[in-house]
Amino acid sequence: MNNCLLCLLPIKQTASWESGWLFSKEILCCAHCIMGFEKLAGSLCTICSRESSDKVCKDCQGRELFLDSNKSLYRYNDFAKEYMKRFKFQGDYIIGAIFQKELKKYFAKNKATIVPIPVSEARKLERGFNQTTAILEQSDIQYEGLLAKKHSEKQSKKTRQERLEAAQVFYLTKEIGSDEKEIILFDDIYTTGSTLNLAAQVLKEAGMKKVSSLTIFR
Ligand SMILES: [Zn+2]
Ligand SMILES: [Zn+2]
Repeated sequence: MNNCLLCLLPIKQTASWESGWLFSKEILCCAHCIMGFEKLAGSLCTICSRESSDKVCKDCQGRELFLDSNKSLYRYNDFAKEYMKRFKFQGDYIIGAIFQKELKKYFAKNKATIVPIPVSEARKLERGFNQTTAILEQSDIQYEGLLAKKHSEKQSKKTRQERLEAAQVFYLTKEIGSDEKEIILFDDIYTTGSTLNLAAQVLKEAGMKKVSSLTIFR
């Protein structure tokens, strides 16, 4: 029997004979914990996935956007914040795997190159890993490390305004191949969107036509 990666209790498998549940290694999280994550649904901004009654939300109107669109899976609620704290700051690396099914499903829908949002070398040393590549690796998803990040102040220590005005912090690690048609950036959380937008800017300026993003939380 598997134990839930989050609460560590045994996962009760309901006896269904569908899809070979006996060998279902994919069940990593118990139903109770899964319910703690709230799926983003209903009326969302078509660009950034923010809950909005307008097709394009106020954040996205009148803003210079390099990112074509963003899709996020879950609301960044208290449960999600606890999860991220444990994963990112307490270094509970293994729980990065719990979204693998959804991520695989999303990325399988198109042939885009997946590019994780990098952290600076200093941050990586401090934390031991980059949370975005960790999630992808734990989920067995191939990616291309096209971007690197210069060291700068922690995002969480900046005000919203400072984050919106942030100078370019990303750069290309190599030339983009001519067969690259589309890139999906991957990040853990979409907050103001400025990080993803800066990353998209570098890629667009290097000639990419289509750059969208997927984040787990919003
Ligand atoms: Zn659990
Ligand atoms: Zn929006």
